[in-house]
Amino acid sequence: MTSENTSLQVCTTPADLTALAEKLHADGRPVALVPTMGALHDGHMQLVRAAKQIPNAAVIVSIFVNPLQFGLNEDLDSYPRTLPEDLDLLASEGVYAAFAPTPQDMYPDGFRTTVNPGPLSTEMEGATRPGHFAGALTVCAKLFGISRADHAFFGEKDYQQLTLLKQMVKDLNIPVTLHPVAIRREKSGLALSSRNRYLSDTERTLAEQLSASLRAGKDAADKGATPREVVTVTRDYLARYPEIEVDYVELRDAGLRKLNDYSDNSLPARLLLAARVGTTRLIDNMGLMLQPWDY
Ligand code: AMP
Repeated sequence: MTSENTSLQVCTTPADLTALAEKLHADGRPVALVPTMGALHDGHMQLVRAAKQIPNAAVIVSIFVNPLQFGLNEDLDSYPRTLPEDLDLLASEGVYAAFAPTPQDMYPDGFRTTVNPGPLSTEMEGATRPGHFAGALTVCAKLFGISRADHAFFGEKDYQQLTLLKQMVKDLNIPVTLHPVAIRREKSGLALSSRNRYLSDTERTLAEQLSASLRAGKDAADKGATPREVVTVTRDYLARYPEIEVDYVELRDAGLRKLNDYSDNSLPARLLLAARVGTTRLIDNMGLMLQPWDY
């Protein structure tokens, strides 16, 4: 069914969205897709603004809390759902259509096939969240197909997801161009996230230390620190806050490959972490430039 929310079209079934996308293509308009799980904030809106830069594109935002990417003990049931507010926000940003299917619409009885991502899917986020990336990539593959997306926008906030998506699109020859969008942060440095609304005031102050620790690591790299030193500086920074339960701190190259023991050249790299603050699990990452090193 398709209904109107001011000028925003709202599709709830895959068939409706596909019909809409095919009409857009017949009219010569590219589809620019922004996949989200809703509880929209200004980080999501950065993706929408980037999508609007594609000439003549119709921006379509999907809102779907994807059960396939949540583990058994994760926050699927309590994940914030704010659909009416989300639709108002999208309408006010001039988005063409929203896609808000139910789990049954996306995974009807008889659904069998999932994406099997490569080895990176079991590291970092994947080590703590088994099956998470298989679920995330599967829903994105479905969304690309349903929406006939020509362009799709993803935040660097989920840098590992973005890296795996690039690999999937390449390996499976999916005809969509992916556009990475820089992380949107509060003035304090805290990366915007739908999960930030779980945080108490005290926890929020602690959560702000995550980006500060990445910044400390990046500053060390700027001064010529080796990869090991960068990680140590970041961990030591976090160790000053014993209430923060660190899951991992890792430094990888920009494609998330593990770093060698030496490099003759400076190298763009990514510093990534996950940590629990109270019961809320948060992730963040930052790009930096490593100087040549040798251990
Ligand atoms: P989510 O709704 O959390 O699944 O996120 C949907 C998309 O928005 C993903 O591509 C995220 O990487 C992106 N996103 C979430 N938070 C931010 C942020 N603070 N800055 C940029 N992109 C973000």
